[in-house]
Amino acid sequence: MGRLENKNCIITGGAGGIGLETAILFLREGANVLLSDISGPALERAVSKLKQIVPDAKRIETKITDVSKESDVQAMMEHLDSWGGVDVLFNNAGIMHADDADAVDTPEKIWDLTQAINVKGVWFGSKHAVLSMRKHGKKKTSIINTASVVALVGSATPQLAYTASKGAVLALTRELAMVHAREGFRFNALCPAPLNTPLLQDWLGDDAAKRHRREVHFPTGRFGEAIEQAQAVLFLASDESSFVNGTDFVVDGGMTRCYTTPD
Ligand code: NAD
Repeated sequence: MGRLENKNCIITGGAGGIGLETAILFLREGANVLLSDISGPALERAVSKLKQIVPDAKRIETKITDVSKESDVQAMMEHLDSWGGVDVLFNNAGIMHADDADAVDTPEKIWDLTQAINVKGVWFGSKHAVLSMRKHGKKKTSIINTASVVALVGSATPQLAYTASKGAVLALTRELAMVHAREGFRFNALCPAPLNTPLLQDWLGDDAAKRHRREVHFPTGRFGEAIEQAQAVLFLASDESSFVNGTDFVVDGGMTRCYTTPD
């Protein structure tokens, strides 16, 4: 307990999936949390759930934010000025659009939308976090940017716009980590494998073949759970990871290390 005591934390795309599980852990560890998401109703549902699960949470507030809009991201960051500025930013918001496909079939508007949220959103978050951290004289901070295993290994089930966006997140995170290392601002990328969250499961639906096409690549034989990502995010957010910087932090049940899976 107390691993994030008095740290001011922002979670984008925090109303569900990995973001919400992370909020639970952050609050349990003594953090003040600003939960942001593009969906107001989803944020309201998330907060009432959080208040039930962590009744002694110190501070939990919400901010409707579309991470692809810089003015929204700036307002989200400035919300924390009265708290003393941001210590931890989890740039988690991201989409994988149902119309995302291969080089031939991906519509340009889906490409642009995906890059706007998944890449520009991470840039805007990082930019305004750096400005806030400087303004408030922070010396020991952590920014975690969500990439994906598809930034590391090729997938024969294409979502080209998504894959390109997550590759960009890895590259920009590495550079940010170097540029800001002497200021004490750490940047790491989280690389989750396919998970049991709505982002993927809604898309797979009850298509057993599509599901099997992915499950077979897991040494563990199962998709990951959001909470397993949240545990990694907690580590990267806390001072326990003070010498971890610029990494591709892979949480995948061994998937990207695998040649063949057990029967
Ligand atoms: P999720 O769909 O459960 O949650 C994503 C949240 O982001 C939603 O609450 C949604 O409302 C919000 N959001 C969407 N567009 C937004 C925008 N423009 N601005 C702000 N918020 C927005 O997804 P998840 O599975 O928890 O995924 C979280 C992150 O993890 C994403 O970046 C995703 O790409 C990444 N990821 C997920 C998986 C997986 O299998 N679920 C695997 C690898 C990486």
